[in-house]
Amino acid sequence: MNTHATTNKMLSFLDPEKPQPWASFIEQIDRVAPHLEKFSYWLETLKYPKRVVQVCIPIQLDDGSLAHFEGYRVHHNLSRGPGKGGVRFHPNVSMNEVMALSGWMTIKNAALNLPFGGAKGGIRVEPTLLSVTELERLTRRYTSEIGNLIGPHKDIPAPDVGTDEQTMAWMMDTYSVNQGATITGVVTGKPLSLGGSLGRREATGRGVYVAAREAGLLQGVAMKDARVVVQGFGNVGSVAAQCFAAAGARIVALQDASGSVANPAGIDIEAAIACVKGGGKLVDMPGVESISTDDFWLVPSDYLVPAALEGQIDAVLAERLDTKIIVEGANGPTLPEADDVLAARCITVVPDVIANAGGVTVSYFEWVQDFSSFFWTEQEINAKLENIMAAAFHSVAELAVERKVSLRTAAFIIACTRVLAARDRRGLYP
Ligand code: NAD
Repeated sequence: MNTHATTNKMLSFLDPEKPQPWASFIEQIDRVAPHLEKFSYWLETLKYPKRVVQVCIPIQLDDGSLAHFEGYRVHHNLSRGPGKGGVRFHPNVSMNEVMALSGWMTIKNAALNLPFGGAKGGIRVEPTLLSVTELERLTRRYTSEIGNLIGPHKDIPAPDVGTDEQTMAWMMDTYSVNQGATITGVVTGKPLSLGGSLGRREATGRGVYVAAREAGLLQGVAMKDARVVVQGFGNVGSVAAQCFAAAGARIVALQDASGSVANPAGIDIEAAIACVKGGGKLVDMPGVESISTDDFWLVPSDYLVPAALEGQIDAVLAERLDTKIIVEGANGPTLPEADDVLAARCITVVPDVIANAGGVTVSYFEWVQDFSSFFWTEQEINAKLENIMAAAFHSVAELAVERKVSLRTAAFIIACTRVLAARDRRGLYP
């Protein structure tokens, strides 16, 4: 057996003790149910993904051997439009996780009033163990296997953990070759040269910052000199950190898969980005102290930005955090029982479905631009993103005050009402 296949098998072991993301999603729906009485007839529809597809992806490795990988694409709900959601390459990807991520996309797209349903996909793989050519074969075969599900009017994938512009370029090319025409609108987050949008790569991190800033304004937490802790230093975490730093905040601790670092005077974010881009580890950077994972979470902060994976903050950790505002850059980083603890401790949580919606918002812009083949300036993109993010945050915040609920519940009330109203109007077939 080849090394990659063995490694893939070893990594595919999932801890049954770990809280399952789909259970968290269902609990979030249950929590919002009392606020959705008008649509109680349809509510159950949110607890069933519309379509769950698992595919086997066989590829030839560079040494000539064969390896098999498991891939998924889930359409959670398409009542409001085509599916929209990222593709994740990570060793912990499972059907359960992809189902939850697709559900959160339904809520996010509706909360922002984007004309999309919720979808998500992924492959259980450690991408860093594959060469570029192996990754290309993996991506192309996966795209072919889910080819009937995706399309600019059906379901539009985008990057997520472990995938990037190049992954999207391969997906777009594979889909286009199979269709016999160049169809740029099948994916978003593409390179600019293939119909990508200016500002898309930075959009999620920028949106995280906008959501944080608006929450800080409401709560009187000044951005200048604010202490910020960021978990995850990839696409979302690094850009969010840059935006916070540009606004005068200090990034006092950072964590990625390689370790955790701190500097109470503020970490040099540009140096950290250069270090990671150059293949270095955060802990090898000059001017930072390497700290344990446990210590990382206890670093005092004004803003805590989890921007890595789901299920990071449980009830026990929630009791120990020393922060004022949590801004969820990642999808699903806070477990439902942790939400209760944080609410009791008066720590504000700006939920993922609002905080990290900047990416899908500019993905929407990219999709629109691809259809019209007319491209906007970065200034136009960023201005529209700011307006949409700030407006979405404030409608959620106002409803939260009116109903005396958390920002997450308020966002779910707005989103579920939109989805179920669409479902109600469409009716049942047959
Ligand atoms: P990425 O692959 O670019 O970066 C992921 C980061 O998380 C890396 O720094 C990695 O080292 C770190 N990480 C991985 N495992 C970790 C662990 N166990 N502990 C600490 N750090 C760990 O991914 P991304 O695109 O930045 O996505 C991060 C999160 O944001 C995900 O939850 C994703 O679903 C969400 N998100 C991404 C986008 C987007 O546009 N990329 C949009 C919305 C939400």
